[in-house]
Amino acid sequence: MILLQFTLNKKNLVENSVQASSLTLVKPIVEIDYARAQEEVQVQKQQASPEDFALYKGYYNYLASIPQELKDYFHFKANTTDKIVVLSFDDGPLAYTPSLMEVLSQSNTPATFFLLCNRITNTNSQWYSNPLFSYGMHTLSHKDYSYLDFEQTKQEIDKCQEIFAANNLLSQFFRPAFGIITPELVDVLKTNQIIGVLWNIDSLDWDKKRGDELVAQVLDNLSPGSIVLFHDGVNQTDLKRIIAGISEQGYRIVSLEELLEYPKLNSIY
Ligand SMILES: [Zn+2]
Repeated sequence: MILLQFTLNKKNLVENSVQASSLTLVKPIVEIDYARAQEEVQVQKQQASPEDFALYKGYYNYLASIPQELKDYFHFKANTTDKIVVLSFDDGPLAYTPSLMEVLSQSNTPATFFLLCNRITNTNSQWYSNPLFSYGMHTLSHKDYSYLDFEQTKQEIDKCQEIFAANNLLSQFFRPAFGIITPELVDVLKTNQIIGVLWNIDSLDWDKKRGDELVAQVLDNLSPGSIVLFHDGVNQTDLKRIIAGISEQGYRIVSLEELLEYPKLNSIY
């Protein structure tokens, strides 16, 4: 266990980040992108509060306030000049996921899915058996871990690991909901020998970005070793353009496992 004299005052961070960036609150992603999927897939989910979403929107201001030693546990980006990039997709399995996988398969594009463990069933867990794809845990139900102590955090992650094991899903990757980093989370991940994975390019697909704006948000920000954040509900036409554009820029889309063979580059935050 690491001992860190650090208390995350989330409320202040949210207020600061919103003030600093003059951003307005928008509705939680679960209401924007997943309405149809919610009808089709019976899932228990936790609504993200407007405060949580403000944190997500002001994410880079939030990261600036997190101690470097906590951030250092996570992979944001690889330290390399090789033109490689990882595509990651959060919040599945959802009704969108099979058609998204079809788009990726058609172009032989590797991808990593970060799953909400409470959504996993005997049936949808089999979607992830395609060797083109890897996957990791993304909490049980998208809970904000900044409200949890060590024991509560450990119970959540233990439960995620149990669900993965019960469904023959093998992964040691974890991405926290909203990208929340707490000392307790880092302790649990170390205790359970789980690798923390975040991102350095947010596609902003959760923020109603579509078309040219979404494509440019990814392609204009590419750099070697990048990890791009999407969600399973991303517009698939836009995604095809992004995949083509990445290739046109001379980049290779690789698996998360391949990118993790490179050293981390965390000094960017
Ligand atoms: Zn998420």
